Amino acid sequence: MHLFLLFLCVFAMSACGGKESNEEPMTKTPITAIAIHGGAGNLKKLNLTKDEEKAYKEALGSALSLGDSILQAGGSSEDAVIAVITFLEDSPLFNAGKGAVFSHDKKNELDAAIMLGKNLDCGAVTGLFRVKNPIRAAQLVMHKSEHILISGTGADQFAEEQGLEMVDPSYFFTTHRWEQLQEALKEDSISLDHDGEKQKPTAGLSNLWDDSKYGTVGCVALDQQGNLCAGTSTGGLTNKKHGRIGDTPLIGMGTYANNNSCAVSCTGRGEDFIRATVAYDISARMMYLKEDLKEATRYVIQDKLKSIKGRGGCIAVDTLGKVSLEFTTTGMFRAYRDGKGDQKVEIYK
Ligand code: ASP
Repeated sequence: MHLFLLFLCVFAMSACGGKESNEEPMTKTPITAIAIHGGAGNLKKLNLTKDEEKAYKEALGSALSLGDSILQAGGSSEDAVIAVITFLEDSPLFNAGKGAVFSHDKKNELDAAIMLGKNLDCGAVTGLFRVKNPIRAAQLVMHKSEHILISGTGADQFAEEQGLEMVDPSYFFTTHRWEQLQEALKEDSISLDHDGEKQKPTAGLSNLWDDSKYGTVGCVALDQQGNLCAGTSTGGLTNKKHGRIGDTPLIGMGTYANNNSCAVSCTGRGEDFIRATVAYDISARMMYLKEDLKEATRYVIQDKLKSIKGRGGCIAVDTLGKVSLEFTTTGMFRAYRDGKGDQKVEIYK
């Protein structure tokens, strides 16, 4: 009997962690998580020099610290996503904002989208010419307009009326993007931003992706309130024609967030991502098939997208603070810090 009482005592103490039972339960800081991409492509073919690799990694690392510090300080996932994407849009290294690729008409035509997981609010812009930070225009569409997706000069005008910083279109000019367009014009190919590889044009859709290079930027985040947010910004594809719109500003294609599943931002050949409904499909698999984040992203990118020879990848985060980064290309510029505090900045597979 004595032994039994002793056992009960030891059990009770260990169940309370050896502490007095009337002690207040320890309050844990809620988890946060963040993931960032800076585009995907056949990155090995780019033959980045050590210095270039360093520059990309530094930019991604700084963007990660910026977003992470906002989340750690209790800021919203929306604030973190906006800060990170604004930072990357201001960097000429990426195909968004300053550094965006040129269209066939020799213009920088910018697209962006943002979505909040807590209420499915979203906003998007396409074909902007004069807004310095397109992601901020998308955010204003979400909060200040009755629409979700607005385009072209009307979208520029809306942003200006809302007081956003406007620039002359020449602000977006960079020599290397101009040279990429000259190459593409010679071969009449349409390019992703980070491929160094040239491919022969073939019939149909695949013509859109020769000499392809991806360099879109995106960010997904979970804040201390448990709210998810996804944002994406891009110049689209080099040599894109006729006011072409890719997956980035299309909610559910390149950008999606829902607190019941996940937040997703994509990069790659937009036409493939539209055909495969990538971002929404990942969320839907989690909600309806009860797949976890890894299973859902893996299936949609490695099975579904690959089955249509889709090129690119995505970053995703869920409300548990799990992060998933999947791509079909040889690399994707990426950085993350998950809910456990694991953190990485990587380029290649
Ligand atoms: N997805 C973007 C588009 O098709 C391009 C990219 O990710 O680099 O416009």
